[in-house]
Amino acid sequence: MSVETVVMKFGGSSVADLEKVKEVAQIIEQRKKNMSVVVVVSAMGKTTNSLIDKAYNLSERPNLREMDMLVATGEIVSASLLSICLNEMSVPAVSLTGFQAGFNSYGKHGSNKIEDVDVTRLKRHLDEEHIVVVTGFQGMNPEGDITTLGRGGSDTSAVAIAAKLGAKCEIYTDVDGIYSADPRIHKGAKKIDVVTYEELMEMAHLGANVIEPRSVEIAERYGVEMEIRLNDGVTPGTRVVGGKDMEKTTLTNVSKLDEVLLVSMSDKTGSSAKITECFLELAQRNVNIDIISQTIVNDQTEISFTSTEASKHEIEDVLESKEIDYRMKTDVSKVSIVGTAMRNQVGIAAKVFEIFLEEDIRFYEISTSEISISYVVDTENTTRVIELLADAFNI
Ligand code: ADP
Ligand code: ASP
Ligand code: MG
Repeated sequence: MSVETVVMKFGGSSVADLEKVKEVAQIIEQRKKNMSVVVVVSAMGKTTNSLIDKAYNLSERPNLREMDMLVATGEIVSASLLSICLNEMSVPAVSLTGFQAGFNSYGKHGSNKIEDVDVTRLKRHLDEEHIVVVTGFQGMNPEGDITTLGRGGSDTSAVAIAAKLGAKCEIYTDVDGIYSADPRIHKGAKKIDVVTYEELMEMAHLGANVIEPRSVEIAERYGVEMEIRLNDGVTPGTRVVGGKDMEKTTLTNVSKLDEVLLVSMSDKTGSSAKITECFLELAQRNVNIDIISQTIVNDQTEISFTSTEASKHEIEDVLESKEIDYRMKTDVSKVSIVGTAMRNQVGIAAKVFEIFLEEDIRFYEISTSEISISYVVDTENTTRVIELLADAFNI
């Protein structure tokens, strides 16, 4: 008889210390009683951040290949410790790095994409009744170098394995599911029992960092059954389902994204050739550009765009090499309202304008998608903006 397989992913907060590793091992042991289990782990606690800080202590711009070598060690520590703990409990387990688990990846170091996962070895260990503990976040590129999948990439690793095994994927974390806003910021946030892939993806892209957006994309593409749950192993979480939910008349979420970089460029000549070249160069360097807006006053073109503070140096290099007049603003954040209700509910933007006017809140850019609307505001105002919007729209 074939046993159902589950992929259980535990984030850094769930394996932050040895006590937590032991608790996680017990949850896994319970699950193993009637399931075949693959576990994906992140680095313990804030390990990845402290490794990155160490590198920046030595170099302002550390080599990206070496950074991947460095940060990949975090997941190796947590996976091997968890496997040691399980074996100590007489629960047979084996830990695998991303490479050993068959993650073939490509692209830029630090933000590699998964080409495929060859699960042959993983299946062999499962057939031998082992729990397989895989290091999240890692891949291996065609050169045979260790790569990483971008911050929060363990979620992506877990869903990718689940997709290849036809398994369900449970993401265990320090909250009991997806909330209408980050529960640490907005105390009145409500738990959502069921969310669509589409909404969750949009929320995640717009800053609900409880889940990595690429993982939701893969889950939707491969129809992976997904649940975001508390790391106590018992509390029911939020289920992620397919479908468009066209009839729904509520908005689901208000999210924020910090460390936004606002760049304004002036083109005095009135010709946009230099600006076009600059966008091409930024694209070539893989710099992510978000909201773009343009105003023309008296033949003077002003183009603004947003990116991330992490790309600041790279953007400065490009703009200076093209001799463009520019200004940069940091300490801004993007606050977004998300929900499929946006498709058929009118007046949302108008109501936000009214609130901002009444409360004297300044905003710099606005952007919309089919199911979201975002405002760039001063970071110091984000908590207030989230509370005002959540109250106004009953989110
Ligand atoms: P992990 O270490 O398990 O990967 P993360 O820190 O990546 O955990 O994600 C969990 C955190 O996401 C929560 O502690 C919570 O503060 C934050 N979060 C942000 N937005 C939301 C949301 N809409 N619902 C639930 N949690 C959220
Ligand atoms: N440890 C990595 C990070 O902190 C990957 C992850 O946690 O998903 O980004
Ligand atoms: Mg996470």
